Amino acid sequence: MNPDHRPRVVIVGAGFGGLWAARALAHAPVEVLLLDRNNYHTFFPLLYQVAAAELEPEEIAYPVRSIVRNLSNARFCMAEVKEIDFAARVVKTTERVIPYDFLILGIGSTAHFFGVPGAAEYAFPLKTLEQAVALRNHILCCFERAIQEPNAERRQRLLTFAILGGGPTGAEFAGALAELIRGPLMRDYRTLGVRDVRVVLLEAADSLLASFPERLRVYAPARLRKMGVDVRLQAMVNQITPESAQLKDGTIIPTGTVIWTAGVRGVLQASAWGLPTARNGQVLVEPTLQTRDHPEVYVIGDLAYVEQDGQPLPMIAPVAIQQGVASAQNIARQVKEQPPVPFRYHDRGTMATIGRNAAVTYLAGHAFTGFLAWLLWLGVHIFNLIGFRNRLFVLINWAWDYFFSERAVRLILPNETVQTSPPQS
Ligand SMILES: Cc1cc2nc3c(=O)[nH]c(=O)nc-3n(C[C@H](O)[C@H](O)[C@H](O)COP(=O)(O)OP(=O)(O)OC[C@H]3O[C@@H](n4cnc5c(N)ncnc54)[C@H](O)[C@@H]3O)c2cc1C
Repeated sequence: MNPDHRPRVVIVGAGFGGLWAARALAHAPVEVLLLDRNNYHTFFPLLYQVAAAELEPEEIAYPVRSIVRNLSNARFCMAEVKEIDFAARVVKTTERVIPYDFLILGIGSTAHFFGVPGAAEYAFPLKTLEQAVALRNHILCCFERAIQEPNAERRQRLLTFAILGGGPTGAEFAGALAELIRGPLMRDYRTLGVRDVRVVLLEAADSLLASFPERLRVYAPARLRKMGVDVRLQAMVNQITPESAQLKDGTIIPTGTVIWTAGVRGVLQASAWGLPTARNGQVLVEPTLQTRDHPEVYVIGDLAYVEQDGQPLPMIAPVAIQQGVASAQNIARQVKEQPPVPFRYHDRGTMATIGRNAAVTYLAGHAFTGFLAWLLWLGVHIFNLIGFRNRLFVLINWAWDYFFSERAVRLILPNETVQTSPPQS
């Protein structure tokens, strides 16, 4: 470390982990440089609502500079990190080589296709704002094409939407899509019948929402079926083509839209940069969140593989936030020449919304379903969304949808490429 200067902490990724790390270092005697390839932070828990034409992309994103300008020791630089030289302690972006004394890596995760043939090419992942907008465009385009399609078989294929993965994102998106279709789209496309349209939720295991208590796992599929979603359990997809999803039992679902929410993995760069990774691409870290060979390098959030009580921690925002804060506190300790302390995750509960007046929530050991769970879900998400304007606009959109069963965001914008095949992840 340079004795004349405050140590420099470079944080890569302004996601939940990186942003909270920068905030936690606000009063530490360090200079912080936060890097991200985008100039905004994305609130992923509401990403599916962008794809379901419920929210505008800018309502769930927030400029990183607006956050960082309130932190006197921090700067932001929009740049994509291409390489890291851990021996020389530098990160390399396309334009610059940036030295660091401490490094926090929080670059998140990517869709995991488990080697299913055709998945990477033809399925729509839901991991970035661009992907959510592309999916929204695609769904609306399917309806525009279907209403002009004279052939019943082709029309049915255009109007079949298969969602892969019965975790919270898959269940939430299935509910939101069913409501979009049965409400606003059926009114817009009056000559298409509701029976022409299918939302199919495919889950390989024998229940949805595997990480939730049993009562909530039973409630979720029952509620989705009531909303018209075709929920299929023990349905393992083994091939995706531009025109179908094929199941292991031989069933073929004719569809041009397969939405992949079935799995995530650590980003591929981590292993390319020489970091030790678990089977799912997450980086293996010490209990203190430091990497094994580089005590000045911390890995947090979705990218970090951490076990607690014999189980891997889930890839969710509260884990990333708590790890961001913990890594910052450990760096502050190292600066004061104190040893870093092990990280421990405090689980405050979990929740998912199924649709209007319906959610599942597990808080402080209590399971809630229905309207109360839905109100809790709304409150927690509005509270955690960054920015007063975003909260206000999201609330207005939700209220509009709730009272008028209307989605305000049904535009296929000309500058957003109309997708008939999915973007590569
Ligand atoms: C659709 C969806 C719904 C979800 N719903 C929930 C939910 O309801 N509740 C919940 O708790 N969790 C949810 N999650 C999971 C949660 O969003 C993640 O666990 C959390 O975002 C992880 O935080 P992170 O800081 O590790 O990474 P991220 O928040 O993903 O941030 C990573 C950042 O790194 C940047 N980056 C990546 N590579 C580079 C690079 N090479 N150079 C520079 N910058 C880079 C990215 O632009 C991004 O800003 C959801 C995720 C998705 C995708």
